Amino acid sequence: TPSLYVVATPLGNLGDLSPRAAAVLGAVGAIAAEDTRHSQRLLDAFGIRARLLALHEHNERGAAEQVIRLLGEGESVALISDAGTPAISDPGARAVARVREAGHPVIAVPGPCAAVAALSVSGFAGGGFRFVGFLPPRSAARRAALAVLREDADALVFYEAPHRIAECVDDLRAEFGAQRRVLIARELTKLHEQSVLLPLGEAAAWLASDANHVRGEFVLVVEGAPPVEGLDGEAERVLGLLLEELP
Ligand code: SAM
Repeated sequence: TPSLYVVATPLGNLGDLSPRAAAVLGAVGAIAAEDTRHSQRLLDAFGIRARLLALHEHNERGAAEQVIRLLGEGESVALISDAGTPAISDPGARAVARVREAGHPVIAVPGPCAAVAALSVSGFAGGGFRFVGFLPPRSAARRAALAVLREDADALVFYEAPHRIAECVDDLRAEFGAQRRVLIARELTKLHEQSVLLPLGEAAAWLASDANHVRGEFVLVVEGAPPVEGLDGEAERVLGLLLEELP
């Protein structure tokens, strides 16, 4: 059956392209890519020859119709983005939705995702997590977006650009407090990969301590809020009083 395959590609290390991903990319009739020139280099590295079509945030609607046309003609199509998993802070979700509406199967070929990679080395993943992705670029809006997450018990996963990493960390500290811990993961799977776990109160100094610390691609994972005493504590107190009254 002609299907849309949503294929994850490496974040940096080409060894992370799965054998299944390579096989699918080599077999489909066309590959819809965020940046065709960028993806051509990946395909060249694996000796994959394929027809590429551009599917990015500015043409996603039209490109989705093109994909549906190909599926209707009996061709399977793969969807890739520049790095990691398509549709995760990347184009693709709208195309996937349209292909589903058109009644064609959509099949995941999972693999690298920066958010999941950072979360997996954070030590915070035991409970739930919330993928926030990119925060608003301006501080006031960013602070407002963070304020509503302050009491969330889930670990919070953020993507951030290198030129905003310092101000973002300042805002995280202001909203979550200096004690809350953050994992700063940069250049995952690449030559200068680094991940450090620090209280937010020490994160700004760490970033400022070496020019390399603010270079590259970043994921920030903030530990979830500690359980609130509030109601639980009150409930316990009332229960204690009631128990005292029991014969
Ligand atoms: N769809 C991608 C995924 O599955 O991770 C994310 C795409 S988003 C446009 C790009 C952002 O992902 C970067 O700004 C950075 O925050 C994060 N990212 C991508 N590659 C990374 C890497 N090697 N190390 C750390 N963060 C990375």
